[in-house]
Amino acid sequence: MPDLLANFQRVQERIAAAAARAGRSADDVGLVVVTKYVGLDQITPLVGKGMRAIGENRVQEALEKYEKAPWRNQVEWHMIGHLQRNKVRHCLQFADLIHSVDSERLLREINRRAAELQRDVVRVLIQVNVSGEESKFGISPDEVGQLLAVAEMCERVQVEGLMTMAPYVEDPETVRPYFRCLRLLAEEMGQQGFTRSRMKYLSMGMSNDFEVAVEEGANLVRIGSAIFRE
Ligand SMILES: *Cc1c(COP(=O)(O)O)cnc(C)c1O
Repeated sequence: MPDLLANFQRVQERIAAAAARAGRSADDVGLVVVTKYVGLDQITPLVGKGMRAIGENRVQEALEKYEKAPWRNQVEWHMIGHLQRNKVRHCLQFADLIHSVDSERLLREINRRAAELQRDVVRVLIQVNVSGEESKFGISPDEVGQLLAVAEMCERVQVEGLMTMAPYVEDPETVRPYFRCLRLLAEEMGQQGFTRSRMKYLSMGMSNDFEVAVEEGANLVRIGSAIFRE
């Protein structure tokens, strides 16, 4: 059995060190603990120990955990995986933030379901495929402005920033340019005068590359393996 609490603390220390290298405060970087690999028995020990948000990539599994977890209101629930339109209704039952909006149709469906469920506003990020890798979800950087224009018409959706997944590589330095590209894109989009969007969050960095991502400006990192599989 891995010592989950020790792993969790170690990851927090590494985030803090990376933030310091970039002249930023550790408090500026939110950690989303990615719990998709494990059941409630392994998540529960981290509740009340500084875990603020958990990330799941499948709607059905997330909803099952959400319904069973006695501590569900003590953490934020983030949907980080690809979201199909026919799962949106279920997703809105648990998700505080959806990281993976990658089409106009999905955006409109979230808006429609939010109205139906009388949810005031649903917070989302736009997933961008910065590397252009075919296996990755997300829209290309030059489509982001268009999607934000559509979001202007979705009154129940609040775009809070951008998310990306870098390709998996041995040496995380290789993917530094992708993280930088997402940060520059967010800066550019922040200056376009959209009223329903703000570029508050940059969700980038996973177990293999989160330190580089934080150095490049990430303020949400999504980490699973380094906590649950070490
Ligand atoms: C699984 C997953 C993560 C976490 O990956 P690790 O390498 O296990 O830290 C982050 N983001 C997304 C979208 C994922 O699906």
